[in-house]
Amino acid sequence: MVEKDGVGPKVAIIGAGFVGSTFAYSLLIRGLVSQIVIIDINRERAEGEVMDLNHGLPFAHPVKIGVGDYAGCKDADIVVIAADKGQPIEKSRLELAEGNFEIMKQVVPKVTDYNKDCIFLVVTNPLDVMTYAVLKLSGFPKNRVIGSGTVLDTARLRYLLGEHLKVDPRNVHAYIIGEHGDSEVPVWSLANVAGIRLKDYCPICKVPYDLDHFNGLFLKVKNAAYEIIRRRGRTYYAVSLGLTRIVEAIVRDENSVLTVSCFLHNYHGVSDVCLSVPAVINRSGIREIIELPLDDRETEAFQKSAAIINGINNSLRLYN
Ligand code: NAD
Repeated sequence: MVEKDGVGPKVAIIGAGFVGSTFAYSLLIRGLVSQIVIIDINRERAEGEVMDLNHGLPFAHPVKIGVGDYAGCKDADIVVIAADKGQPIEKSRLELAEGNFEIMKQVVPKVTDYNKDCIFLVVTNPLDVMTYAVLKLSGFPKNRVIGSGTVLDTARLRYLLGEHLKVDPRNVHAYIIGEHGDSEVPVWSLANVAGIRLKDYCPICKVPYDLDHFNGLFLKVKNAAYEIIRRRGRTYYAVSLGLTRIVEAIVRDENSVLTVSCFLHNYHGVSDVCLSVPAVINRSGIREIIELPLDDRETEAFQKSAAIINGINNSLRLYN
């Protein structure tokens, strides 16, 4: 984190849309940081969000919230990129990637002009491609570029499993790894409650161990964004809480295990791509990546997911 005397953590948010502003709201309620600066190409929108957030301060925690330009990133510990070109969701992943890559090319050098010590936290989709792009464009060490990744997908799976098994989702340990998107992979072989694998836990809680049912839950996770977007156009509450959780792990130096998108080198044969796997997060960003003992099917699915993201990175010439 950026060293500052006597001042608490500062977060800069680039993109004051649904995700950026809901994340700011969530940060405000949690009281995790001392300063939030919000930057958007549409300054009026950022001003409106900041006014509304500030009016809630008498009910929440002291935090300075302001509209900024890139100079506002100067002493930020964490810079969150939630900017988006606003393209129709029907576009292909590659087309979406091309549009938002243009934004990353504009935004990242403006941040690094003022701050070379922050942690980038990326939420813009396609997430794993944008995380890799930010890593390349910033030239930052790989521990300081984090994608929100499958933090959200993992939360969705834990929630659905918790409902099914009638147990608090915080006690369900099950991960989604790989792409934040269609090729993501559920790690069923390691899923457990109280250290007991699902196959053995189901009889304990008197629920049938039904693989078809579990795969149905995974499909719900995979399609959650489409289902929410079909009903109300956007997803922003859960992802904002996920971002807040990542920020919490950083500013409190927690060494928490979270499934974030990180740069991988020889992870089950996958290299030079950003994808989600469990990682230990603390004030340095990604302290350590945890290599899961995947089974053969999971390894194959993970490698396929990597190949898809690799292909898009390649089309954007990110490897040149
Ligand atoms: P939005 O359209 O509401 O907001 C995007 C904002 O970015 C707008 O306010 C726009 O003015 C701003 N912007 C565009 N270009 C900019 C630039 N060059 N500089 C600064 N700001 C710029 O979108 P949203 O619903 O808030 O979603 C934001 C991103 O988060 C999208 O890419 C979305 O797909 C992604 N998302 C990711 C997850 C995840 O789990 N990773 C979940 C939900 C949404």
